[in-house]
Amino acid sequence: MNGPLILIVEDEPQMLRFIRASLGSHGYRLLEAGTAQEATQLATTHAPELILMDLGLPDMDGLELTKQMREWTRTPIIVISARGREDDKVLALDAGADDYLTKPFGINELLARIRVALRHVREAASNVSEPVLTIRDLTLDLGKRQVLVSGKEVHLTPTEYKLLALLAQHRGKVLTHRQILKDVWGPAYANQSHYVRVHMAELRKKVEADPARPKLIVTEPGVGYRMRED
Ligand code: CA
Repeated sequence: MNGPLILIVEDEPQMLRFIRASLGSHGYRLLEAGTAQEATQLATTHAPELILMDLGLPDMDGLELTKQMREWTRTPIIVISARGREDDKVLALDAGADDYLTKPFGINELLARIRVALRHVREAASNVSEPVLTIRDLTLDLGKRQVLVSGKEVHLTPTEYKLLALLAQHRGKVLTHRQILKDVWGPAYANQSHYVRVHMAELRKKVEADPARPKLIVTEPGVGYRMRED
């Protein structure tokens, strides 16, 4: 087998068995670390393509480890944790995690998140962002800055366009309010969450069939927004 190499950082034997059985049967190769120290060692020596990170580790909090790893690697990190509060998700994503799954989770959910994260890496590595993205009824031509919904052109303000393009380029992934603000408005605006809410409401009126029940850009309550994958 020659599938992607995944590092699992997890100290609970039961959880480890579950993940091992699930990923192993889908062709992934696995490295296992039960402590932050082992995780750092394996990550530096084996260069895994993706890291699954538990937060409650015996020697260090996984959030701290995520921050440390972000100083030297862009390898996607998916946090898997029993801490399911919105604040915990925001902290993990802002620390540099790419995604967050609350335990207990289903294996299909885990596999889907792994596929998204690995695809983003491949796209970044190929260095050619697709000029035209098609997601459900939406067609976004990044070259022409043109947006079509069900084949009809819609006109967005520059801010709405930036917001839409950002979410589309990270489709499948949750972006926190802070990440969106930094990217669309700039670092000085990182705490102005209401900017995102206001412009998102306007954007949804233009791109969602039913803005009250958005299907394209979904809200992750208290955390941020995610553009659906397909
Ligand atoms: Ca743990």
